[in-house]
Amino acid sequence: MSLKDYRFDGSKKLDLKKLPTDSKHDDVDKEKILAKTAANLTKISELQDKLYADGREGLIIVLQAMDAAGKDSTIKHVMSGINPQGVDVTSFKSPSSEELTRDFLWRFNKVIPARGKIAIFNRSYYEDVLVVQVKEFNKTYHQADRVINTKSKAFFEKRYTHIRNYEDYLYDSSYRIVKIFLNVSKEKQKERFLERIDTPSKNWKFSANDIVERGLWDKYHDVYEDVVNNTSSKEAPWYVIPADQKWYARYLVSEAILDALKKIDPQYPVMPDDEQARLEDCRNQLLNEKN
Ligand code: ATP
Ligand code: MG
Repeated sequence: MSLKDYRFDGSKKLDLKKLPTDSKHDDVDKEKILAKTAANLTKISELQDKLYADGREGLIIVLQAMDAAGKDSTIKHVMSGINPQGVDVTSFKSPSSEELTRDFLWRFNKVIPARGKIAIFNRSYYEDVLVVQVKEFNKTYHQADRVINTKSKAFFEKRYTHIRNYEDYLYDSSYRIVKIFLNVSKEKQKERFLERIDTPSKNWKFSANDIVERGLWDKYHDVYEDVVNNTSSKEAPWYVIPADQKWYARYLVSEAILDALKKIDPQYPVMPDDEQARLEDCRNQLLNEKN
């Protein structure tokens, strides 16, 4: 399997039970993958420099996952090749009371990057159809009856539509969106939780609530599948990436980002003739400086 098998752009349905969470199916060699990832990071860095200089399109990378799938370390790793000036990372936690008094896209729209920049969303508006749907938080919303007194499914079908429209809107506003679901197995999550519990320097990464969420694993997976199948499009594809081996997940993430940057195909601005002539003047002035 290769990146395209993990890409969902509306042309095929996701069946999460059938998709691998590890690298074994792909018959890959770790050393080779590490080398390819390093090469990808170099290319990403070059393209990001051009993206920034060009300033015509922005890139939004959405990261979603169950706990301990490796969102944070993926971000750290991918960022290692990127000029910090050109990228913003935002983590979205449970909404504040101020955020809850607004429409659900409000807090995201505030941090849409300037064109030329990359934004990484560590969790995103997809939480508003994921955790909110799994835990039925919508029923607690302080909103008009006509909004929350609908059947729960109808409420989320509408949100899927709003998200599709929002992503179309961003695409038409000169942005690209890459959506990544780090698909970790339940066994691997257990292993990583135990490591977090047993290693003092990792204790802070663990919270008792993680066990509560784990208890809802099947429900989350059903909803993830539904969400991907309802919000995949050519313009804003989902990548459902096997995440049991971090080195492999990072490689596939780097491929997905590289693919998006190549589609943008950013170019360094070419100076108009008159500015080129002015540069020549400046050059001469510098060369003829006395002292
Ligand atoms: P880590 O992997 O380090 O645990 P995290 O992203 O899980 O990072 P946490 O602070 O543990 O960070 O969790 C953030 C929590 O916020 C998640 O449980 C997520 O479901 C929740 N959350 C995010 N958006 C919303 C939302 N719109 N409504 C309710 N809960 C939300
Ligand atoms: Mg967490």
